[in-house]
Amino acid sequence: MSAENKVILVTGGSGLIGKAIEEVVKQEKQAYENETWIFISSKDADLCNKEQTQKLFEKHKPTHVIHLAAMVGGLFHNMAHNLDFLRNNLAINDNILHTSFEFGVKKVVSCLSTCIFPDKTTYPIDETMVHNGPPHPSNFGYSYAKRMIDVSNKAYHEQHGCMFTSVIPCNVFGPHDNYNLQSSHVIPALIRKMSDAIERGDETYTVFGSGKPLRQFIYSMDLAKLFLWVLREYHSVEPIVLSVDEVDEVSIAEAAEVIKKSINFKGDLSYDTSKPDGQYKKTASNKKLRSHLPNFQFTKFEDAMKESVQWYIDNKDSARK
Ligand code: NAP
Ligand code: GDP
Repeated sequence: MSAENKVILVTGGSGLIGKAIEEVVKQEKQAYENETWIFISSKDADLCNKEQTQKLFEKHKPTHVIHLAAMVGGLFHNMAHNLDFLRNNLAINDNILHTSFEFGVKKVVSCLSTCIFPDKTTYPIDETMVHNGPPHPSNFGYSYAKRMIDVSNKAYHEQHGCMFTSVIPCNVFGPHDNYNLQSSHVIPALIRKMSDAIERGDETYTVFGSGKPLRQFIYSMDLAKLFLWVLREYHSVEPIVLSVDEVDEVSIAEAAEVIKKSINFKGDLSYDTSKPDGQYKKTASNKKLRSHLPNFQFTKFEDAMKESVQWYIDNKDSARK
C-alpha cells in the first residue's frame, strides 16, 4: 500500500450521518480509489469499552477516523438521561481519541453539535464560542461530553502534534434516521407520528411545544459531502460549523407544515404548549464554511424533506424504531 492510501474507519456507520456518508462515498467511488472505507456499528465493538475499541483498531488499522458514534437523542431523551449521555459519550470519545493516538492515526474528524453552545449567548453563535458559558439545562450531559472533544483535540495537538479536529453540525435529518419515539429528534418523530395518524384516519396531529423554537436543519446527504471535504481538505484542529445559512432557519411549526405537505396529511396541526420547547434557538454562523466553500449548494428543505419522507414510507418496517 503506498503512503497515499487511506483506510478510513467511520464509527457510528449505521446511523443517520454514517449511512449518508456511505451513500455519498458509493456515488463518488471512481474518483477516490486510494480510499478504503470501513463503516462500523455497535455490533462491531462497544466503544464504551477500551479493549473492544483497541481490538477494532488492531483489526482495521485505520489511517483516518470519522468519529460519529455517540449516545444521541432528541430533547425529551436528553432531559431524562443527562447522566447516561455524559458518561457514555465521555467514555466513547476518550476511547476513540486515545486509541487513535496509540495507533498513530493521521487524522480524526469528530462530531460536536450546535446544541452544545452556551444557552445565554449572542447570535449568531460561531466556532469561537463553544466554551463561553453553561449549555441549555435540558442537555448538559451531552453538551459537556461533546465540549471535551474540542478540549482533547487541542491537548492531543499541543502535547503530541495530532491532527484531531471536529465539526459542528446543526440539526440533521434524512434517510436512516431514528424513528423511536422515546429517543428521536423532532423531524423523524413528526414523520413517524403523522404517518401513523394518516393510517388511523386522525383529523388532528398535535405537535409538542409551542412550535415557535427556531432550528437550522441540514440534509444528511449535504452534511455527508461536507464531512468528506473536511476529511480531505480542512487541515485545522479548530472546529468548523457545518450548517445551512442563517436565512434558512425555520420554526418547528414551519418544519411541521413542510412534513405535513410531504406526507400528505390532510388534517389540522395543533400545539401542546404543556410540553417543553427546549432551547428557543441556536442560530449558528456558517461564515467560516462559506469562506472555504462559497458556492456549496444545500438541498432545498422541501426537496430534502420529500426524499426523507419517501425513504420512511419505503422502509417503514425495517426503519429504526
Ligand atoms: P444515530 O443515527 O443515532 O447513530 C448513532 C451511531 O452511534 C450508530 O451507528 C450507533 O450504532 C453508534 N453507537 C452508539 N453507541 C455506541 C457504542 N457504545 N459503541 C459503538 N457504536 C455506538 O446518530 P447520528 O444522528 O448519525 O449522529 C452521529 C453524530 O453526529 C453523533 O456524534 C451526534 O452527536 C452528531 N450530531 C447529530 C445531529 C443530529 O441532528 N442527528 C446533530 C449534530 C451532531 P448502532 O446502530 O449499532 O446502535
Ligand atoms: P433539539 O433541537 O436539540 O432541541 O432537539 P429536537 O430535535 O428533539 O427538537 C426539539 C424541538 O422540537 C422542541 O421545540 C420540541 O418541543 C419540538 N417537538 C415537537 N414535537 C416533537 C416530538 O415529537 N419529538 C421531539 N423530539 N421534539 C418535538
